Amino acid sequence: MPTQLDKLINTVCARIIAAEPELTQLDSEIGDADHGVNMKRGFEAILVDSSSLAAQPLPDALKAAGMTLVMKVGGASGPLYGTLFMTLGKELPPEPSHDDVVRAFAAAIDAVKARGKSDFGAKTMLDVLGPVLAAISRPGATFDAVRAAAAASAEETIPMLATKGRASFLGERSIGHMDPGARSSQILITAVCDALEGTS
Ligand code: ADP
Ligand code: MG
Repeated sequence: MPTQLDKLINTVCARIIAAEPELTQLDSEIGDADHGVNMKRGFEAILVDSSSLAAQPLPDALKAAGMTLVMKVGGASGPLYGTLFMTLGKELPPEPSHDDVVRAFAAAIDAVKARGKSDFGAKTMLDVLGPVLAAISRPGATFDAVRAAAAASAEETIPMLATKGRASFLGERSIGHMDPGARSSQILITAVCDALEGTS
């Protein structure tokens, strides 16, 4: 019987790997067309280790996955997603409550902001992670509400002006395209919701 962690790891990796062409396309519009390949490389490396990761307590698995992302994804997004996962690993207990998830996710977002010298509103992954935290924090939060917040906030990066990362080099021409990291964050969050809810 696969454990819940096993299922979580496999679902997240499969979704990111399958999204490679879409993420590459988005990054070709306002970046250097490597976000899909970067993410695929990182999550393929996690998938290779999935059975040993799934045998570890959740915090250790998250820390190990984060280190793999830093080493394998590269680009701007590797250290940022690595920081997100490693901070979740540091902050979450082995069997987290809803409050633990809210607190750990807030700490992980702060760590991504510090690592990227960035904040909300710069047209990055943070513009999905922030609204997702808000959705998770609401009393009685549902998986549907979290998925909807991730989808809406990724769409909302389309009219934004990029002021961080490679897309900021384009200035006004960054407007009118979805941020690739926002989309990969939406895919990650949706995969986590689906796996935890058992609908993947
Ligand atoms: P690179 O930009 O080095 O080619 P990727 O293409 O893999 O790296 O990742 C690009 C994504 O990383 C962007 O779409 C954006 O969401 C995210 N990103 C880039 N810089 C920052 C930053 N300073 N803070 C937060 N996210 C960032
Ligand atoms: Mg890129």
